[in-house]
Amino acid sequence: MPRATARVCAQPGCPQIVRDNNRCPQHQRERDAYQRATVPTKATYTYAEQKRRKATVDAWREEHGDWCPGYEVPAYPSDRLTADHLTPVGLGGAQDGPLGVLCISCNARKGSRVQRGTDTR
Ligand SMILES: [Zn+2]
Ligand SMILES: [Zn+2]
Repeated sequence: MPRATARVCAQPGCPQIVRDNNRCPQHQRERDAYQRATVPTKATYTYAEQKRRKATVDAWREEHGDWCPGYEVPAYPSDRLTADHLTPVGLGGAQDGPLGVLCISCNARKGSRVQRGTDTR
């Protein structure tokens, strides 16, 4: 079995030697907490939530096929579908709140709109 390379913690100034991660346990935890705080919709997905999102997309596919309902554009065929929080978590929506379906590009468009605070849905 290849041994993981030992290196120092990626946190500047931390002398801890680590093998499996880039950071020592303490700094890994701080890093995780930081990511949870700054990217709430990405970093906090639990396994159950991932399953729920997949089920939402699967159910949509079964009913409508590979169609994106469109965000600010008419519906069109797309097989790159993702689950989307109707009320974005970044705007205070619940993590387990209702989900819709959008394709990756519509979801990204909606995401950038939400960040600018102009999404009114
Ligand atoms: Zn460290
Ligand atoms: Zn789309």
